[in-house]
Amino acid sequence: MQPFCYFQPTEIRFGRRKAHEAGEVTARLGTRALIVTEPAFREIEPIHEKVSASLRAANLEVAHFDGVAPNPTTEVVAAGTRLAREHGSDVVVGLGGGSSMDTAKAIAVEATHEGTCWDRLWFRDEQPTEATLPVVAVTTTSGTGSHVTQVSVVTNSAERCKSALYNALLFPRVAIVDPELMASVPPKVTAATGFDAFTHAFEAYIHAGTSPFVEILAKEAIRLVAQHLPTAVRDGADIGARDGMAWADTLAGLCIASAGVTLPHGMGMAVGGMYPHVAHGEALAALYPAFVRFTWETAVPRFATLGRIFDANLREGSDEEAARGAEAAVTGLLDTIGLRLSLRDFDVPEAELDALAEACLVLPDYENNPRVATLEYMLGILRESHV
Ligand code: NAD
Repeated sequence: MQPFCYFQPTEIRFGRRKAHEAGEVTARLGTRALIVTEPAFREIEPIHEKVSASLRAANLEVAHFDGVAPNPTTEVVAAGTRLAREHGSDVVVGLGGGSSMDTAKAIAVEATHEGTCWDRLWFRDEQPTEATLPVVAVTTTSGTGSHVTQVSVVTNSAERCKSALYNALLFPRVAIVDPELMASVPPKVTAATGFDAFTHAFEAYIHAGTSPFVEILAKEAIRLVAQHLPTAVRDGADIGARDGMAWADTLAGLCIASAGVTLPHGMGMAVGGMYPHVAHGEALAALYPAFVRFTWETAVPRFATLGRIFDANLREGSDEEAARGAEAAVTGLLDTIGLRLSLRDFDVPEAELDALAEACLVLPDYENNPRVATLEYMLGILRESHV
């Protein structure tokens, strides 16, 4: 059997009403908490209030940074850092989707180090140190898995570049996963984030650095997405479907924290860096069919598993037949959840596809794909995703 290492330091508190435990767990880590969220709106305000109340009830001094925006930028992190320093925060609570949890992680680094979070990206010599503030992650979407990963994705608008901090010190100390917080997520966001969770599981499953442990988690996450995502999109109040997706997202997050992602994620990050209005899950949805066509023949048993999870008719036939069915499994899921998209839908200019293909080679994720793309193939995948 292939040797492997599996490391996961995050305490996971999973289940309905777990949000009420935010105060108790945060008080173990500090006395002055910075809550990091998006600006309040009708559906999310009660969630902010519930978590703030829990923190105050645990006698924490609370400051609230509510300046997060989707695809958070270095400017957003700098604004949150200013508040953390003024307040003297010693623990950071990321409350929201991946954008809020990632901003919380980046603030935890920037508030305690010289320079900016951008100076401590995954490939830099300078890395976050033990001074990094502890983070509690309370997720309100089922998609990024950020509540259990060592990753913080940040965009530098001036450089038109989306990159990441990646360091074991960024694992949240505690992840709170309360599916009741997700009941208000609108169908379009449920679809895009749920598809993101699916891609995490699948890419970790086909990754060069996968392991027997990740394989178990990934297959279960994909099965849960197939079972629950269509229902969660159709009826967001179906709490059983929200439970299923919250668990799928958590398992998929554990997968990427251990193995990592492959070609589509590196490409999706390039899309997000150049076109920040494209949600992460939507970029992946646009790229996935062409990625499957490009890759399936180099990892037939893995793509066969995917085909069989989605189509019971493929369980009896050959691996080759089932793997061939993987593209239909993906496009069928995208059709069902209303996410069959093209880069054209986001006004990505055809004239910029060459530059985008170059940007797709910046992150090394593509090197861990079963079939490694050259610049020419990247461009081919982008063209196929732009019809
Ligand atoms: P998000 O955090 O940007 O949220 C998407 C939308 O959902 C927002 O408009 C928000 O207002 C809304 N929303 C969130 N919770 C809600 C609720 N309970 N009710 C109603 N509306 C709600 O989106 P996301 O997909 O969760 O995160 C995307 C970010 O995470 C991207 O920057 C992506 O690159 C990053 N990411 C990080 C990791 C990681 O491991 N750190 C992994 C994958 C992606």
